Amino acid sequence: MTYSPAAQRRYHQTEKGKRSRRRNQRAYYRRDKRRGLAKRMVQSAIAKGIIPKVASRRCADCPEPAAHYHHPSYEREDWLSVVPLCVRCHYARHGKVYADTR
Ligand SMILES: [Zn+2]
Repeated sequence: MTYSPAAQRRYHQTEKGKRSRRRNQRAYYRRDKRRGLAKRMVQSAIAKGIIPKVASRRCADCPEPAAHYHHPSYEREDWLSVVPLCVRCHYARHGKVYADTR
């Protein structure tokens, strides 16, 4: 089922929508334990100065400042092979539409 970005945004602002989003996020990380580990590895690499803070990077797909590090692969050896992306392009790489149009 697909909803318009505006409808999705309205839904996620309701209490029910917020609960549903949190539930989906937990399920997403539980489905593949490597996702949480990969994310933590990147956070610790940033803290150690191995990877620059995402806010200092530009999106790899458009001229926007980057907001997320994207993992093209969750294999252990690829945990630090991340691509800086803005939120919109990150969603696009996962075949989704970013609901917050701002
Ligand atoms: Zn972008």
